[in-house]
Amino acid sequence: MSKEKSPQKGNGMPRFNLNWLYIVVIGVLGYMLYQGESGGTGQNKQIDYSVFKEYVQKGYTADITVDKTEGLARMVVEGQHVRDVFKTGTKNTGAKPTCTTKYPSVDRLQEFLDASGYKGKVRYEESSNFFISLLGSLLPLIILVAIWMFFMRRMGGGGQAGIFNVGKSKAKLFEKTNGAPQVTFKDVAGQEGAKQEVREIVDFLKNPQKYTELGGKIPKGALLIGPPGTGKTLLAKAMAGEADVPFFSLAGSDFVEMFVGVGASRVRDLFRQAKEKAPCIIFIDEIDAIGRARGKNPTFNSNDERESTLNQLLTEMDGFANNSGVIIIAATNRVEILDEALLRAGRFDRQIQVDLPNLSERIDIFGVHLKPLKLEEGLDIEFLARQTAGFSGADIANVCNEAALIAARHDKKQVAKQDFLDAVDRIIGGLERKTQVMTAEEKKTTAIHEAGHATVSWLLEHANPLVKVTIVPRGRALGAAWYLPEERTNTTKEQMLDEICATLGGRAAEELFTGHISFGALNDLEVVTKRVTAMVAYLGMSDLLPNVSYYSAQESYFQRPYSDKTAELIDGEVRRLIAEQYERAKAILSENGAKHAQLTDLLVEREVIYTEDVENIFGKRPWKSRAEVLLEESAEKKQTEAEASAAQPALPVAAAESTEQAADATTEAATAPKDFETNETEITENKQ
Ligand code: ADP
Ligand code: ZN
Repeated sequence: MSKEKSPQKGNGMPRFNLNWLYIVVIGVLGYMLYQGESGGTGQNKQIDYSVFKEYVQKGYTADITVDKTEGLARMVVEGQHVRDVFKTGTKNTGAKPTCTTKYPSVDRLQEFLDASGYKGKVRYEESSNFFISLLGSLLPLIILVAIWMFFMRRMGGGGQAGIFNVGKSKAKLFEKTNGAPQVTFKDVAGQEGAKQEVREIVDFLKNPQKYTELGGKIPKGALLIGPPGTGKTLLAKAMAGEADVPFFSLAGSDFVEMFVGVGASRVRDLFRQAKEKAPCIIFIDEIDAIGRARGKNPTFNSNDERESTLNQLLTEMDGFANNSGVIIIAATNRVEILDEALLRAGRFDRQIQVDLPNLSERIDIFGVHLKPLKLEEGLDIEFLARQTAGFSGADIANVCNEAALIAARHDKKQVAKQDFLDAVDRIIGGLERKTQVMTAEEKKTTAIHEAGHATVSWLLEHANPLVKVTIVPRGRALGAAWYLPEERTNTTKEQMLDEICATLGGRAAEELFTGHISFGALNDLEVVTKRVTAMVAYLGMSDLLPNVSYYSAQESYFQRPYSDKTAELIDGEVRRLIAEQYERAKAILSENGAKHAQLTDLLVEREVIYTEDVENIFGKRPWKSRAEVLLEESAEKKQTEAEASAAQPALPVAAAESTEQAADATTEAATAPKDFETNETEITENKQ
């Protein structure tokens, strides 16, 4: 289970409010319509004052309203007289039929009414001056607009972003001038690999001409890949701090709103602002909220808005020149769901892995976050780091803060070890479902599995040289063994078999040393099955189907170029080859059980081990790696060339020959089908 922030956060609310808004609009419109019916279009007749007097004398009315402000008198016509006045029957409008007249003055009107012997009601109104009556009729509309603006403001986020700012980007700008303290690489503990990679980008920002003068293109974007809380935002901020440039920060979900087109216009606005501030860095957290692959996982609502936002982002990235000085850093935990278009050259073509910290990195991170605390004498930082396997940098920052709070609650003057332990417990409780905090037993199993890979690959001549083995969870993988990819121009059957054997070494070790097999090998088995299938069906490397290839460049599963019988044969051969290599791995492991156990213990203790550590246990490998062979060859070649040129000038014929050979080699490589190249960099395990 991985720890993910929901990329959709904040989307639920506006959608709900939208329904609400519709109800209010319909209600208000309905009310206005009703008002119009009863007031404006009821039966009413403008009459002269003399006619008015006549009607009163004839007793047509028993209800007169005098509006003093407007100088109008209105009489309600009694039912039996309606036909006399209007020449038609009563219309069924709900309102009483009336006649209105302009009277000369209130005094004269009163005199007349007294003289005429009128017995009905007379009401005097001083009510509405013009503006108030206007306000009255506009009131519903005003309420409507107010409600509308209220929601727009809520969605626009922040005080200044109101109805007119909905298309403006919501990026926060950090500049030296607005007092934000400059974060530098010193604030980012560990993450040496990631720091090394972004250092180059910092240099681009600082000295662009150094690169452009040589005709080089400055990268436009980099993708930081890693679980939440590992310091991706921190790293991007540190880049801006190191390069001393402004920093725009926002999340992918900030672009996406209920209104179509808002996201795209926010992207446009963001880039406009950024170009004004160039050189600068734009940081987009959780890019997967907009960058998810199109067509995959369609939710029931159409994703038009997200797509148009993504398209706008791509357009903007393609649109600005390589030397404009705007560099976009995006972060995600799930690179596999990103749209491929984002990863294409000239966009986020640099991918930087930001992993959970290992033991020594956790010590460093504790170092950063313990600094502001008052600690008890002799607090063992390494001990703390050991208690927090699987924690991210943010979790550790949290532990330090929580420990200080716990100590304060107990009125202590210093933060003590026990406070940290309590804080760790509390945070593990909160994280349990979100992160992969491993129990001691799980840790041991993972170590056995990884040590299995390491042992087998170390002892096989053609397996890739091992670089690093770790049991720090990474993404959905529990642990990993890294191999140096041998950039072979061609791969032999022996090499493929050795690699397959090493990949199966993880599960073989589990079975052999724990008696159980686990989920942990899912990814291994997937890789192995694919490769063995390629060997049998495409490369003609199995005994039963030698030298046939059913490879096709436009493979379609519906037109297999072979019979069902051959399909069975392929399946059988795949199973046989895998079983063979699995047994081979088990044999190697049981022969070297003691050394494997040593490696396992070292892994449990240190969480990450390197080539030297494996060498200390197993001794040096008797074989040279390809890189070493190449190095020696080129040294030899230089030697002979030097000798030759000392004797006589190089012959042009010889030069021509060697280029011909080189050309041959490249065509060989180019025609080898790409999809089963074997120089994978790592083997990881899925946990699910
Ligand atoms: P992300 O962007 O990867 O989710 P953040 O950069 O927001 O993670 O990290 C959150 C906080 O965790 C940081 O502000 C910092 O306090 C702490 N933190 C994370 N990684 C590190 C690190 N490598 N060194 C020091 N502090 C870290
Ligand atoms: Zn494995």
